Amino acid sequence: MSEPAIIKESPDVPLEISVGAIPEDDRVWVPQAPGVFFRPLLINTITGQWCNLLKVTRSGIVSRHRHPGIVVGYVIKGQWKYDEHEWTAHQGGFVYEPPGEIHTLRVPDDCSEMVTFFNITGAMIYVDEEGRQIGYEDALTKLDMCREHYANVGLGADYVDQFRR
Ligand code: FE
Repeated sequence: MSEPAIIKESPDVPLEISVGAIPEDDRVWVPQAPGVFFRPLLINTITGQWCNLLKVTRSGIVSRHRHPGIVVGYVIKGQWKYDEHEWTAHQGGFVYEPPGEIHTLRVPDDCSEMVTFFNITGAMIYVDEEGRQIGYEDALTKLDMCREHYANVGLGADYVDQFRR
């Protein structure tokens, strides 16, 4: 019987990330729209994947959108739903969003704040009621938004680099 192979870690392995997901410093939340914020956790410029917390501090429609890739999420606080589906995602709930689906994210009237972890690959394509494209986000536009916000609030544009791979 031959000797088992010795497995060694390559020096090229990227840096790991370990961070408290909900930040103590509110400046870490990047404003995205009125009452809508995101907190970057991992922005992968090679695969176009990003992980973030989405925080919404108002009720009503957040966005109507389509994403070409898979999205999975975990609800940390509050609740929300898609107008196109019967179910509501509650605190502690897991969601899988299939590529290509178009849905309208809504926070119900009795929820003043929701926080959800999302792992997104590809893009968020924002559309209006008729399906016309009204916005677009991907890992690189997210990175840009973070840089601009962190520069403005005094954390420094390079604050986001700890979440970039
Ligand atoms: Fe979605």
